[in-house]
Amino acid sequence: METSTKYVFVTGGVTSSLGKGIIASSLAKLLQSSGYSVTIQKLDPYLNVDPGTLNPYEHGECYVTEDGAETDLDLGHYERFLNIHTSQLNNVTTGRIYQTVINKERKGDYLGKTVQVVPHITDEIKRCIQLVGTKHRFDVVITEIGGTVGDIESLPYIEAVRQLRYQLGNTNSVVIHLTLVPYLAAAGELKTKPTQHSVKALLENGVQPDILVLRTERNLNMEIRKKVALFCNVDGDAVIQSIDVPTIYDVPIKMNEEKLDQIVLRKLNLPQNKVVELRQWKEFLAKVKNPKREVTIALVGKYTQLPDAYKSICESFIHAGAANECKVIVQMINSEKLNDENANQLLASVNGILVAPGFGSRGIDGKYVAVKYARENNIPFFGICLGMQCAVIEFARNVLGYTDAVSTEMEAATEHTVIDIMESQKKITEKGGTMRLGAYPCKLNSNSLTAKVYGQTKISERHRHRYEFNNDYLERFSKAGMVAAGINETSGLVEIMEIPSHRWFIGVQFHPEYKSTVLSPHPLFVGFVKAAMTTIKN
Ligand code: GLN
Repeated sequence: METSTKYVFVTGGVTSSLGKGIIASSLAKLLQSSGYSVTIQKLDPYLNVDPGTLNPYEHGECYVTEDGAETDLDLGHYERFLNIHTSQLNNVTTGRIYQTVINKERKGDYLGKTVQVVPHITDEIKRCIQLVGTKHRFDVVITEIGGTVGDIESLPYIEAVRQLRYQLGNTNSVVIHLTLVPYLAAAGELKTKPTQHSVKALLENGVQPDILVLRTERNLNMEIRKKVALFCNVDGDAVIQSIDVPTIYDVPIKMNEEKLDQIVLRKLNLPQNKVVELRQWKEFLAKVKNPKREVTIALVGKYTQLPDAYKSICESFIHAGAANECKVIVQMINSEKLNDENANQLLASVNGILVAPGFGSRGIDGKYVAVKYARENNIPFFGICLGMQCAVIEFARNVLGYTDAVSTEMEAATEHTVIDIMESQKKITEKGGTMRLGAYPCKLNSNSLTAKVYGQTKISERHRHRYEFNNDYLERFSKAGMVAAGINETSGLVEIMEIPSHRWFIGVQFHPEYKSTVLSPHPLFVGFVKAAMTTIKN
Protein backbone atom coordinates (compact mmCIF):
# COMPACT_ATOMS: atom_id res chain seq x y z
CA MET A 1 0.00 0.00 0.00
CA GLU A 2 1.46 3.40 -1.06
CA THR A 3 1.48 5.93 1.75
CA SER A 4 3.39 9.02 2.72
CA THR A 5 1.67 9.26 6.09
CA LYS A 6 3.11 7.12 8.88
CA TYR A 7 0.90 5.63 11.58
CA VAL A 8 1.49 5.16 15.29
CA PHE A 9 -0.99 3.06 17.25
CA VAL A 10 -1.23 3.39 21.00
CA THR A 11 -2.88 0.53 22.86
CA GLY A 12 -3.29 -0.01 26.59
CA GLY A 13 -3.08 -3.07 28.77
CA VAL A 14 -3.46 -4.25 32.39
CA THR A 15 -5.84 -1.49 33.49
CA SER A 16 -7.63 1.57 32.19
CA SER A 17 -6.70 5.14 33.20
CA LEU A 18 -2.98 4.69 32.53
CA GLY A 19 -2.90 7.89 30.52
CA LYS A 20 -2.75 6.71 26.91
CA GLY A 21 -4.04 10.12 25.84
CA ILE A 22 -1.20 11.89 27.63
CA ILE A 23 1.45 9.54 26.20
CA ALA A 24 -0.02 10.01 22.70
CA SER A 25 -0.13 13.80 23.19
CA SER A 26 3.43 13.88 24.55
CA LEU A 27 4.82 11.86 21.65
CA ALA A 28 2.90 14.07 19.22
CA LYS A 29 4.34 17.16 20.91
CA LEU A 30 7.88 15.83 20.55
CA LEU A 31 7.41 14.93 16.89
CA GLN A 32 5.78 18.29 16.21
CA SER A 33 8.69 20.01 17.99
CA SER A 34 11.06 18.18 15.62
CA GLY A 35 9.28 19.70 12.62
CA TYR A 36 6.80 16.95 11.72
CA SER A 37 3.11 17.62 11.10
CA VAL A 38 1.19 15.38 13.47
CA THR A 39 -2.36 14.74 14.55
CA ILE A 40 -3.92 12.38 17.06
CA GLN A 41 -7.07 10.34 16.76
CA LYS A 42 -9.07 8.53 19.43
CA LEU A 43 -11.04 5.37 18.70
CA ASP A 44 -13.59 4.70 21.42
CA PRO A 45 -15.04 1.20 21.69
CA TYR A 46 -18.46 2.14 23.07
CA LEU A 47 -21.79 2.11 21.23
CA ASN A 48 -22.79 5.73 21.74
CA VAL A 49 -22.40 7.46 18.38
CA ASP A 50 -20.57 10.23 20.24
CA PRO A 51 -20.09 11.13 23.91
CA GLY A 52 -22.50 14.06 23.62
CA THR A 53 -25.32 12.03 25.16
CA LEU A 54 -23.19 10.75 28.05
CA ASN A 55 -23.52 12.06 31.59
CA PRO A 56 -20.15 13.68 32.51
CA TYR A 57 -19.94 11.20 35.40
CA GLU A 58 -19.61 8.40 32.82
CA HIS A 59 -16.62 9.60 30.79
CA GLY A 60 -15.81 13.08 32.04
CA GLU A 61 -16.39 16.21 30.04
CA CYS A 62 -17.63 16.24 26.47
CA TYR A 63 -15.13 18.20 24.40
CA VAL A 64 -16.38 20.24 21.44
CA THR A 65 -14.25 20.87 18.33
CA GLU A 66 -14.34 23.84 15.92
CA ASP A 67 -16.51 21.88 13.49
CA GLY A 68 -19.02 21.12 16.24
CA ALA A 69 -18.19 17.49 16.96
CA GLU A 70 -18.99 16.36 20.51
CA THR A 71 -15.95 14.28 21.42
CA ASP A 72 -13.92 12.48 24.05
CA LEU A 73 -12.03 14.63 26.54
CA ASP A 74 -8.70 13.28 25.25
CA LEU A 75 -9.16 15.52 22.20
CA GLY A 76 -8.86 18.42 24.61
CA HIS A 77 -5.42 17.13 25.63
CA TYR A 78 -4.44 16.78 21.97
CA GLU A 79 -5.36 20.40 21.26
CA ARG A 80 -3.83 21.75 24.47
CA PHE A 81 -0.53 19.98 23.82
CA LEU A 82 -0.30 20.54 20.07
CA ASN A 83 -1.97 23.93 19.74
CA ILE A 84 -3.83 22.68 16.65
CA HIS A 85 -7.51 22.16 15.93
CA THR A 86 -8.98 18.67 15.78
CA SER A 87 -12.23 17.71 14.09
CA GLN A 88 -14.91 15.05 13.83
CA LEU A 89 -12.33 12.84 12.09
CA ASN A 90 -10.22 12.73 15.25
CA ASN A 91 -12.78 10.84 17.33
CA VAL A 92 -14.56 7.73 16.15
CA THR A 93 -16.72 5.44 18.27
CA THR A 94 -17.95 1.90 17.66
CA GLY A 95 -21.45 3.43 17.47
CA ARG A 96 -20.38 5.67 14.59
CA ILE A 97 -18.62 2.80 12.78
CA TYR A 98 -21.70 0.57 13.02
CA GLN A 99 -24.01 3.42 12.07
CA THR A 100 -22.03 4.02 8.86
CA VAL A 101 -21.91 0.32 7.97
CA ILE A 102 -25.61 -0.22 8.71
CA ASN A 103 -26.61 2.88 6.71
CA LYS A 104 -24.59 1.53 3.77
CA GLU A 105 -26.24 -1.85 4.12
CA ARG A 106 -29.70 -0.22 4.06
CA LYS A 107 -28.76 1.63 0.88
CA GLY A 108 -27.81 -1.67 -0.70
CA ASP A 109 -24.13 -0.74 -1.05
CA TYR A 110 -22.94 -4.24 -0.13
CA LEU A 111 -24.62 -5.76 -3.19
CA GLY A 112 -26.18 -8.75 -1.50
CA LYS A 113 -23.16 -9.70 0.60
CA THR A 114 -23.44 -10.87 4.22
CA VAL A 115 -22.29 -7.89 6.31
CA GLN A 116 -19.87 -8.96 9.04
CA VAL A 117 -17.51 -7.62 11.72
CA VAL A 118 -14.63 -8.87 9.57
CA PRO A 119 -14.24 -7.46 6.94
CA HIS A 120 -16.93 -4.72 6.95
CA ILE A 121 -16.53 -3.26 10.43
CA THR A 122 -12.74 -3.61 10.32
CA ASP A 123 -12.65 -2.00 6.85
CA GLU A 124 -14.63 0.96 8.14
CA ILE A 125 -12.23 1.30 11.10
CA LYS A 126 -9.27 1.26 8.71
CA ARG A 127 -10.96 3.84 6.49
CA CYS A 128 -11.45 6.18 9.46
CA ILE A 129 -7.82 5.77 10.55
CA GLN A 130 -6.45 6.54 7.09
CA LEU A 131 -8.91 9.33 6.31
CA VAL A 132 -7.53 11.58 9.02
CA GLY A 133 -4.02 11.20 7.59
CA THR A 134 -4.78 11.60 3.92
CA LYS A 135 -7.32 14.42 4.20
CA HIS A 136 -4.83 16.86 5.75
CA ARG A 137 -1.59 15.17 4.61
CA PHE A 138 -0.08 14.72 8.06
CA ASP A 139 3.42 13.22 8.31
CA VAL A 140 2.33 11.15 11.29
CA VAL A 141 -1.09 10.11 12.62
CA ILE A 142 -1.14 8.80 16.16
CA THR A 143 -4.22 6.65 16.78
CA GLU A 144 -5.14 5.92 20.35
CA ILE A 145 -7.25 2.80 20.80
CA GLY A 146 -9.55 3.34 23.78
CA GLY A 147 -10.21 0.58 26.30
CA THR A 148 -7.88 -2.19 27.43
CA VAL A 149 -6.44 -5.02 25.34
CA GLY A 150 -8.41 -8.17 26.14
CA ASP A 151 -11.78 -6.39 26.27
CA ILE A 152 -14.36 -7.97 23.96
CA GLU A 153 -15.25 -4.61 22.46
CA SER A 154 -11.62 -3.74 21.55
CA LEU A 155 -11.20 -6.79 19.32
CA PRO A 156 -12.29 -5.30 15.97
CA TYR A 157 -9.92 -2.38 16.54
CA ILE A 158 -6.93 -4.61 17.27
CA GLU A 159 -7.79 -6.67 14.20
CA ALA A 160 -7.97 -3.48 12.09
CA VAL A 161 -4.52 -2.48 13.42
CA ARG A 162 -3.17 -5.94 12.56
CA GLN A 163 -4.44 -5.69 8.99
CA LEU A 164 -3.27 -2.13 8.49
CA ARG A 165 0.23 -2.98 9.73
CA TYR A 166 0.37 -5.82 7.25
CA GLN A 167 -0.88 -3.62 4.42
CA LEU A 168 1.22 -0.57 5.22
CA GLY A 169 4.48 -2.43 5.53
CA ASN A 170 7.07 -2.55 8.27
CA THR A 171 8.44 0.96 8.34
CA ASN A 172 5.13 2.77 7.99
CA SER A 173 3.59 1.96 11.32
CA VAL A 174 4.51 1.45 14.95
CA VAL A 175 2.57 -0.01 17.86
CA ILE A 176 3.18 1.42 21.30
CA HIS A 177 1.66 -0.59 24.11
CA LEU A 178 1.17 1.13 27.47
CA THR A 179 1.03 -1.05 30.57
CA LEU A 180 1.44 -0.87 34.32
CA VAL A 181 4.30 -2.21 36.43
CA PRO A 182 2.86 -2.30 39.93
CA TYR A 183 5.02 -2.07 43.05
CA LEU A 184 4.10 -4.68 45.66
CA ALA A 185 5.02 -3.10 48.98
CA ALA A 186 4.78 -6.39 50.89
CA ALA A 187 7.27 -8.07 48.54
CA GLY A 188 9.29 -4.88 48.03
CA GLU A 189 9.23 -5.60 44.29
CA LEU A 190 8.14 -4.16 40.96
CA LYS A 191 6.12 -6.75 39.05
CA THR A 192 6.31 -7.26 35.28
CA LYS A 193 3.98 -10.26 34.92
CA PRO A 194 0.86 -8.16 34.15
CA THR A 195 2.82 -6.55 31.29
CA GLN A 196 3.88 -9.95 29.95
CA HIS A 197 0.28 -11.17 30.03
CA SER A 198 -1.02 -8.08 28.37
CA VAL A 199 1.53 -8.35 25.53
CA LYS A 200 0.51 -11.99 25.21
CA ALA A 201 -3.10 -10.89 24.76
CA LEU A 202 -2.00 -8.57 21.95
CA LEU A 203 0.06 -11.34 20.35
CA GLU A 204 -2.92 -13.68 20.45
CA ASN A 205 -4.62 -11.14 18.21
CA GLY A 206 -1.67 -11.05 15.87
CA VAL A 207 -0.16 -7.75 16.94
CA GLN A 208 3.46 -7.54 18.10
CA PRO A 209 4.09 -4.22 19.89
CA ASP A 210 7.27 -2.38 18.89
CA ILE A 211 7.58 -0.21 21.97
CA LEU A 212 6.43 -0.76 25.54
CA VAL A 213 5.79 2.20 27.78
CA LEU A 214 5.56 1.07 31.39
CA ARG A 215 3.67 3.22 33.89
CA THR A 216 5.39 3.00 37.25
CA GLU A 217 5.66 4.71 40.61
CA ARG A 218 9.37 3.85 40.90
CA ASN A 219 12.34 3.90 38.56
CA LEU A 220 12.73 0.75 36.48
CA ASN A 221 16.33 -0.46 36.40
CA MET A 222 18.12 -1.97 33.40
CA GLU A 223 17.56 -5.49 34.64
CA ILE A 224 13.76 -5.10 34.68
CA ARG A 225 13.75 -3.45 31.26
CA LYS A 226 15.90 -6.21 29.75
CA LYS A 227 13.64 -8.87 31.23
CA VAL A 228 10.52 -7.27 29.77
CA ALA A 229 12.27 -6.87 26.38
CA LEU A 230 13.25 -10.55 26.32
CA PHE A 231 9.83 -11.88 27.29
CA CYS A 232 7.90 -9.51 25.04
CA ASN A 233 10.07 -9.59 21.88
CA VAL A 234 10.93 -5.88 21.80
CA ASP A 235 14.27 -4.09 21.38
CA GLY A 236 16.13 -3.45 24.62
CA ASP A 237 15.90 0.33 24.26
CA ALA A 238 12.23 0.12 23.32
CA VAL A 239 11.13 -0.67 26.88
CA ILE A 240 10.73 2.68 28.49
CA GLN A 241 9.27 3.94 31.71
CA SER A 242 6.62 6.54 32.32
CA ILE A 243 7.09 7.46 35.92
CA ASP A 244 4.46 9.36 37.92
CA VAL A 245 5.04 13.11 37.63
CA PRO A 246 3.53 16.16 39.37
CA THR A 247 1.85 17.54 36.22
CA ILE A 248 0.80 16.01 32.90
CA TYR A 249 2.80 18.76 31.21
CA ASP A 250 6.01 17.10 32.48
CA VAL A 251 5.32 13.98 30.41
CA PRO A 252 6.72 15.25 27.06
CA ILE A 253 9.98 16.13 28.81
CA LYS A 254 10.13 12.69 30.46
CA MET A 255 9.34 10.92 27.18
CA ASN A 256 12.06 12.94 25.47
CA GLU A 257 14.54 11.87 28.17
CA GLU A 258 13.48 8.27 27.59
CA LYS A 259 14.00 8.85 23.82
CA LEU A 260 10.47 7.73 22.89
CA ASP A 261 10.43 10.14 19.94
CA GLN A 262 13.79 8.93 18.61
CA ILE A 263 12.79 5.28 18.83
CA VAL A 264 9.52 5.99 17.00
CA LEU A 265 11.30 7.95 14.25
CA ARG A 266 13.89 5.19 13.87
CA LYS A 267 11.20 2.53 13.52
CA LEU A 268 9.31 4.66 11.02
CA ASN A 269 12.48 5.28 9.04
CA LEU A 270 12.12 9.04 9.44
CA PRO A 271 15.14 11.35 9.89
CA GLN A 272 15.92 12.16 13.51
CA ASN A 273 18.47 14.85 12.98
CA LYS A 274 16.11 17.71 13.69
CA VAL A 275 16.24 19.82 16.83
CA VAL A 276 13.49 19.21 19.36
CA GLU A 277 12.33 22.74 20.11
CA LEU A 278 10.86 22.68 23.62
CA ARG A 279 12.00 26.10 24.91
CA GLN A 280 8.49 27.64 25.22
CA TRP A 281 7.15 24.44 26.75
CA LYS A 282 9.90 24.46 29.37
CA GLU A 283 9.29 28.15 30.13
CA PHE A 284 5.63 27.33 30.70
CA LEU A 285 6.56 24.43 33.00
CA ALA A 286 8.95 26.63 34.99
CA LYS A 287 6.12 29.11 35.56
CA VAL A 288 3.70 26.35 36.60
CA LYS A 289 6.23 25.11 39.13
CA ASN A 290 7.41 28.44 40.52
CA PRO A 291 4.33 30.60 41.04
CA LYS A 292 4.81 33.97 42.75
CA ARG A 293 1.24 34.34 44.01
CA GLU A 294 -1.72 32.09 44.76
CA VAL A 295 -5.46 32.51 44.24
CA THR A 296 -8.43 30.32 45.02
CA ILE A 297 -11.27 30.10 42.54
CA ALA A 298 -14.58 28.55 43.51
CA LEU A 299 -15.87 26.36 40.68
CA VAL A 300 -19.59 26.03 41.31
CA GLY A 301 -21.29 23.15 39.52
CA LYS A 302 -23.10 19.87 40.04
CA TYR A 303 -20.49 17.39 38.78
CA THR A 304 -17.93 18.29 41.44
CA GLN A 305 -17.28 14.68 42.53
CA LEU A 306 -15.37 14.02 39.31
CA PRO A 307 -12.81 16.70 38.34
CA ASP A 308 -12.67 15.19 34.80
CA ALA A 309 -16.18 16.56 34.31
CA TYR A 310 -14.60 20.04 34.19
CA LYS A 311 -11.29 18.99 32.63
CA SER A 312 -10.88 21.83 30.13
CA ILE A 313 -11.79 24.48 32.72
CA CYS A 314 -9.23 23.09 35.19
CA GLU A 315 -6.52 22.94 32.49
CA SER A 316 -7.38 26.48 31.33
CA PHE A 317 -6.69 27.66 34.87
CA ILE A 318 -3.25 26.02 34.75
CA HIS A 319 -2.47 27.85 31.48
CA ALA A 320 -3.85 31.15 32.78
CA GLY A 321 -2.07 30.68 36.12
CA ALA A 322 1.26 30.24 34.34
CA ALA A 323 0.62 33.34 32.24
CA ASN A 324 0.10 35.29 35.49
CA GLU A 325 2.87 33.43 37.38
CA CYS A 326 0.17 32.54 39.88
CA LYS A 327 -0.97 29.23 41.26
CA VAL A 328 -4.71 28.77 40.83
CA ILE A 329 -6.34 26.52 43.40
CA VAL A 330 -9.67 25.37 42.04
CA GLN A 331 -12.09 24.69 44.87
CA MET A 332 -14.99 22.57 43.69
CA ILE A 333 -18.28 23.63 45.25
CA ASN A 334 -21.30 21.41 44.80
CA SER A 335 -24.12 23.79 43.88
CA GLU A 336 -26.67 21.43 45.45
CA LYS A 337 -25.10 22.18 48.84
CA LEU A 338 -24.80 25.96 48.40
CA ASN A 339 -27.49 28.25 49.83
CA ASP A 340 -27.94 31.77 51.19
CA GLU A 341 -27.17 30.56 54.72
CA ASN A 342 -23.78 28.99 54.00
CA ALA A 343 -22.67 31.18 51.06
CA ASN A 344 -20.56 33.47 53.23
CA GLN A 345 -18.86 30.57 54.97
CA LEU A 346 -18.08 28.82 51.65
CA LEU A 347 -17.27 31.81 49.46
CA ALA A 348 -15.91 34.60 51.67
CA SER A 349 -12.28 33.59 51.27
CA VAL A 350 -12.19 32.87 47.53
CA ASN A 351 -10.64 35.28 45.03
CA GLY A 352 -13.00 34.50 42.19
CA ILE A 353 -16.21 32.59 41.45
CA LEU A 354 -16.86 30.59 38.28
CA VAL A 355 -20.30 29.14 37.63
CA ALA A 356 -19.88 26.14 35.37
CA PRO A 357 -21.69 24.91 32.27
CA GLY A 358 -24.41 22.32 32.77
CA PHE A 359 -27.84 21.02 31.98
CA GLY A 360 -31.08 20.62 33.87
CA SER A 361 -32.45 21.97 37.12
CA ARG A 362 -30.55 19.92 39.72
CA GLY A 363 -28.41 22.26 41.81
CA ILE A 364 -29.58 25.35 39.93
CA ASP A 365 -30.55 27.38 43.01
CA GLY A 366 -27.02 27.13 44.41
CA LYS A 367 -25.72 28.60 41.16
CA TYR A 368 -27.97 31.65 41.57
CA VAL A 369 -26.67 31.98 45.14
CA ALA A 370 -23.06 31.95 43.86
CA VAL A 371 -23.80 34.62 41.24
CA LYS A 372 -25.54 36.81 43.79
CA TYR A 373 -22.67 36.48 46.24
CA ALA A 374 -20.10 37.44 43.57
CA ARG A 375 -22.20 40.34 42.29
CA GLU A 376 -22.98 41.82 45.70
CA ASN A 377 -19.49 41.40 47.12
CA ASN A 378 -17.60 42.62 44.04
CA ILE A 379 -15.81 39.26 43.69
CA PRO A 380 -14.53 38.53 40.15
CA PHE A 381 -17.19 36.44 38.42
CA PHE A 382 -16.98 34.25 35.34
CA GLY A 383 -20.08 32.45 34.07
CA ILE A 384 -19.74 29.89 31.32
CA CYS A 385 -22.75 28.85 29.23
CA LEU A 386 -25.30 27.80 31.87
CA GLY A 387 -23.21 29.99 34.23
CA MET A 388 -23.96 33.02 32.04
CA GLN A 389 -27.65 32.11 31.90
CA CYS A 390 -27.71 31.88 35.72
CA ALA A 391 -26.13 35.34 35.94
CA VAL A 392 -28.90 36.73 33.72
CA ILE A 393 -31.66 35.10 35.78
CA GLU A 394 -30.13 36.22 39.08
CA PHE A 395 -29.87 39.81 37.80
CA ALA A 396 -33.46 39.74 36.55
CA ARG A 397 -34.75 38.45 39.88
CA ASN A 398 -32.70 40.51 42.30
CA VAL A 399 -31.90 43.74 40.42
CA LEU A 400 -34.77 44.15 37.97
CA GLY A 401 -37.18 42.76 40.56
CA TYR A 402 -38.68 40.09 38.27
CA THR A 403 -38.97 37.46 40.98
CA ASP A 404 -40.53 35.02 38.50
CA ALA A 405 -37.61 35.26 36.00
CA VAL A 406 -36.74 31.83 34.59
CA SER A 407 -35.04 29.81 31.92
CA THR A 408 -37.54 27.52 30.22
CA GLU A 409 -34.97 24.74 30.52
CA MET A 410 -35.60 24.68 34.28
CA GLU A 411 -39.18 25.85 34.73
CA ALA A 412 -42.32 26.57 32.73
CA ALA A 413 -42.46 29.95 31.00
CA THR A 414 -43.50 32.87 33.18
CA GLU A 415 -44.15 36.52 32.46
CA HIS A 416 -40.36 36.98 32.59
CA THR A 417 -38.76 34.25 30.55
CA VAL A 418 -35.32 35.85 30.29
CA ILE A 419 -33.61 32.69 28.98
CA ASP A 420 -35.57 30.78 26.36
CA ILE A 421 -35.10 27.96 23.89
CA MET A 422 -33.56 29.13 20.59
CA GLU A 423 -36.03 29.39 17.70
CA SER A 424 -33.89 26.93 15.68
CA GLN A 425 -34.17 24.35 18.50
CA LYS A 426 -37.94 24.35 18.92
CA LYS A 427 -38.70 21.57 16.45
CA ILE A 428 -35.77 19.35 17.42
CA THR A 429 -36.71 16.15 19.24
CA GLU A 430 -33.55 14.02 18.99
CA LYS A 431 -30.85 14.61 21.58
CA GLY A 432 -27.60 13.48 19.90
CA GLY A 433 -25.59 16.15 18.05
CA THR A 434 -28.51 18.58 17.77
CA MET A 435 -27.49 21.53 19.96
CA ARG A 436 -25.96 24.75 18.58
CA LEU A 437 -22.48 23.31 18.30
CA GLY A 438 -19.00 24.45 17.33
CA ALA A 439 -17.42 27.75 16.34
CA TYR A 440 -19.43 30.90 15.64
CA PRO A 441 -18.13 34.47 15.24
CA CYS A 442 -18.97 37.14 17.78
CA LYS A 443 -18.61 40.92 17.50
CA LEU A 444 -17.55 42.63 20.71
CA ASN A 445 -18.65 46.07 21.87
CA SER A 446 -15.37 48.01 21.70
CA ASN A 447 -16.02 49.72 25.07
CA SER A 448 -16.55 46.44 26.89
CA LEU A 449 -14.29 44.80 29.46
CA THR A 450 -14.39 41.69 27.25
CA ALA A 451 -12.94 43.61 24.27
CA LYS A 452 -10.19 44.92 26.56
CA VAL A 453 -9.47 41.40 27.78
CA TYR A 454 -9.28 39.96 24.24
CA GLY A 455 -7.47 42.98 22.80
CA GLN A 456 -9.71 42.77 19.73
CA THR A 457 -13.38 43.06 18.77
CA LYS A 458 -13.82 40.12 16.40
CA ILE A 459 -13.67 36.72 18.03
CA SER A 460 -14.79 33.17 17.32
CA GLU A 461 -15.68 30.72 20.08
CA ARG A 462 -17.17 27.25 20.41
CA HIS A 463 -20.71 26.56 21.56
CA ARG A 464 -22.86 23.80 22.99
CA HIS A 465 -26.33 24.94 23.99
CA ARG A 466 -30.05 25.07 23.20
CA TYR A 467 -31.15 28.11 25.20
CA GLU A 468 -30.36 31.80 24.76
CA PHE A 469 -30.79 35.27 26.21
CA ASN A 470 -34.23 36.71 25.40
CA ASN A 471 -33.46 39.89 23.42
CA ASP A 472 -36.79 41.50 24.44
CA TYR A 473 -35.07 42.26 27.74
CA LEU A 474 -31.85 43.76 26.40
CA GLU A 475 -32.77 47.40 27.02
CA ARG A 476 -34.12 46.78 30.50
CA PHE A 477 -30.93 44.94 31.48
CA SER A 478 -28.72 47.68 30.01
CA LYS A 479 -30.54 50.42 31.90
CA ALA A 480 -30.15 48.48 35.15
CA GLY A 481 -26.41 47.90 34.63
CA MET A 482 -25.95 44.53 32.91
CA VAL A 483 -24.98 44.94 29.25
CA ALA A 484 -24.43 42.80 26.18
CA ALA A 485 -20.72 42.90 25.40
CA GLY A 486 -20.84 40.70 22.32
CA ILE A 487 -23.39 39.42 19.83
CA ASN A 488 -23.43 37.07 16.89
CA GLU A 489 -24.20 39.49 14.07
CA THR A 490 -25.99 36.96 11.87
CA SER A 491 -28.47 35.69 14.46
CA GLY A 492 -28.48 38.66 16.84
CA LEU A 493 -27.86 36.20 19.65
CA VAL A 494 -26.31 37.67 22.79
CA GLU A 495 -23.04 35.84 23.45
CA ILE A 496 -21.65 37.86 26.40
CA MET A 497 -23.16 39.78 29.30
CA GLU A 498 -21.17 41.91 31.70
CA ILE A 499 -21.69 44.33 34.58
CA PRO A 500 -19.45 47.37 33.91
CA SER A 501 -19.75 48.74 37.46
CA HIS A 502 -18.42 45.48 38.93
CA ARG A 503 -14.71 44.69 39.39
CA TRP A 504 -14.85 41.85 36.81
CA PHE A 505 -18.18 40.25 35.96
CA ILE A 506 -18.43 38.40 32.64
CA GLY A 507 -20.85 35.70 31.53
CA VAL A 508 -20.32 33.98 28.18
CA GLN A 509 -22.74 31.79 26.25
CA PHE A 510 -19.82 29.94 24.62
CA HIS A 511 -17.06 27.70 26.02
CA PRO A 512 -13.70 29.50 26.10
CA GLU A 513 -12.18 26.54 27.96
CA TYR A 514 -12.11 24.46 24.75
CA LYS A 515 -9.66 26.87 23.13
CA SER A 516 -7.08 27.38 25.87
CA THR A 517 -3.73 25.71 25.15
CA VAL A 518 -0.29 25.65 26.77
CA LEU A 519 1.16 28.02 24.19
CA SER A 520 -2.01 30.08 23.81
CA PRO A 521 -3.77 30.51 27.16
CA HIS A 522 -7.29 31.86 26.76
CA PRO A 523 -7.55 35.64 27.31
CA LEU A 524 -10.75 35.35 29.38
CA PHE A 525 -9.12 32.91 31.81
CA VAL A 526 -5.94 35.02 31.91
CA GLY A 527 -8.04 38.13 32.59
CA PHE A 528 -10.16 36.40 35.23
CA VAL A 529 -7.10 35.13 37.13
CA LYS A 530 -5.52 38.59 36.90
CA ALA A 531 -8.70 40.11 38.35
CA ALA A 532 -8.74 37.45 41.09
CA MET A 533 -5.16 38.43 41.97
CA THR A 534 -6.30 42.01 42.65
CA THR A 535 -8.37 40.69 45.56
CA ILE A 536 -5.41 39.07 47.36
CA LYS A 537 -5.18 40.54 50.84
CA ASN A 538 -1.58 41.06 51.96
N1 GLN B 1 -28.26 23.94 29.42
C1 GLN B 1 -27.91 25.17 28.78
C2 GLN B 1 -28.36 25.22 27.32
O1 GLN B 1 -28.60 24.21 26.74
C3 GLN B 1 -26.44 25.45 28.91
C4 GLN B 1 -25.58 24.43 28.21
C5 GLN B 1 -24.15 24.43 28.69
O2 GLN B 1 -23.83 24.93 29.77
N2 GLN B 1 -23.27 23.83 27.92
O3 GLN B 1 -28.46 26.29 26.76
